[in-house]
Amino acid sequence: MTDTVLVVNAGSSSIKVELFAADAALTSLLSGQIEAIGLAPRLALRDAAGTTVAEEAWGQGEGPRDHRAALAAIGTALARVAGQHRIVAIGHRVVHGGATLAAPVVIDPAIRAELAALAPLAPLHQPHNLAGIDAMAELHPGVMQVACFDTAFHRGHPWVADTFALPRALWRRGIRRYGFHGLSYAYIAMRLAEVAPEIARGRVVVAHLGNGASMCAIRDGRSIDSTMGFTALDGLPMGTRSGQLDPGVVLHLLTAEGYDAPALTRLLYHESGLKGLSGLSSDMRALERAGTAEAQEAIAYFVYRIRKELGALTAALGGLDALAFTAGIGENSAAIRAAVCEGMGWLGIALDAAANARGETVLSTPASRVRVLRIPTDEERMIALETLRLLRA
Ligand code: AMP
Repeated sequence: MTDTVLVVNAGSSSIKVELFAADAALTSLLSGQIEAIGLAPRLALRDAAGTTVAEEAWGQGEGPRDHRAALAAIGTALARVAGQHRIVAIGHRVVHGGATLAAPVVIDPAIRAELAALAPLAPLHQPHNLAGIDAMAELHPGVMQVACFDTAFHRGHPWVADTFALPRALWRRGIRRYGFHGLSYAYIAMRLAEVAPEIARGRVVVAHLGNGASMCAIRDGRSIDSTMGFTALDGLPMGTRSGQLDPGVVLHLLTAEGYDAPALTRLLYHESGLKGLSGLSSDMRALERAGTAEAQEAIAYFVYRIRKELGALTAALGGLDALAFTAGIGENSAAIRAAVCEGMGWLGIALDAAANARGETVLSTPASRVRVLRIPTDEERMIALETLRLLRA
């Protein structure tokens, strides 16, 4: 029997799980997901070699209909194929830790209630995270459960990076710039200390460019600002999310264009960003292949906003020692990395085109004042690490 840590990442339409050996190396043993919940769900689990060890697919409207049922399905499939493993702790990705939860916590009834009270701040995500916690408590009674927050890494922001210029009372009521993708940034900060120890204590901008996208300014291993604010809508354009928007646009849509709150939610979360601009797809690979004028313009807007935020975050840091790319687009698209770095010599960035094309860890030339890095992220491993740390505490 191997002792293991189970990581659960319950998102809005999919649930990912990963099982790690509870040892110093945190070896990944099994991983998988259930996708298209409520539509035509598909479930798959793979072993460490990538071989599929469990697979199930349902027709439209069949199989697990909601998160509770989907969690039960994937929990049961996991128990079937991982019978020889004993789960000693379960770590959950939880989107919102509010203003006070600045580190991973063991979930007890009081914390569970606190997390539920934060649901209005992240109504599209927090309820699914809570469903994950409840389902695992039912499937694995008595096993320690830990919540790891997307917001926690950013809780040390200076006040000017934590607020909007709204009346103070609103800040006190929680209308703050929380920042997200914190588990990814915490992982990259940890990896920086391994791959580039000489700059890990310096001024670093990390660009997490995936389906969700944001950037973070890190000084001495700590976040000082981020492009995401009160929700995961702000900052960079994303697959389907708008990114930064003049709030006057929202007022106009409400008062003159007949939008109501549900229609605005659909527009800003699901119909905007790369998908809205290209009229084609939210997927960067599809846009790079398509080559239509609209697809190219969508990519150009994405790159423009990254470059602009790089300047802003560099100003917040008072200079730049390294720029690190991560997540699906940041790790895999040499073209986007090259476009972001193009003509950035004024900032001290000199990209090594060959190293970038090969996707090496160091992408800058030896003469580049700013180190450009490609560091794959691993939010699940970060959660496993924090969970194990609390288990051993
Ligand atoms: P993530 O949310 O981190 O899984 O990232 C998903 C995004 O990464 C999608 O837009 C994908 O199209 C993009 N992506 C993945 N692989 C590549 C690639 N080889 N080239 C360009 N984009 C990619």
